Amino acid sequence: MRGLMQRLAIFMQGRYGNDKFNYFLYILFWILWVINIFVWNVTASIVLDLLMFAVIFYALFRALSRNINKRLIENRAFTKIFDRVKNWFTLTKRKFNERKDYRYIKCPSCRAQLRVKNKKGKHIVKCPRCNNEFSKRI
Ligand SMILES: [Zn+2]
Repeated sequence: MRGLMQRLAIFMQGRYGNDKFNYFLYILFWILWVINIFVWNVTASIVLDLLMFAVIFYALFRALSRNINKRLIENRAFTKIFDRVKNWFTLTKRKFNERKDYRYIKCPSCRAQLRVKNKKGKHIVKCPRCNNEFSKRI
């Protein structure tokens, strides 16, 4: 077993290995696999098979790649998109939890999300990001 692990370590030398993007691809592969169990349409099933093959092939290609710089750039781009999606979910959850006490409004000049007390009447809001001042009626 140790000999095998050593040989694997030598094989992986100078290769990129796994990162966040690759783990996402592995999870995507398993999600597609589970979906495929419930798909009875032959054409759709073949399309899913091809998609699964492409996903796992790309993940393995990335893990074994020697072009580490390019893989790092890909991972950075993926992380940027992933964080944006994650932030959206976090904000949506927060808006829902605080819906009784706060309202979320967008700054008209920089589109930042601003939180104001959920009180009827006119609010003077100053955006902390761009210092734009505007009034909002709730
Ligand atoms: Zn603003």
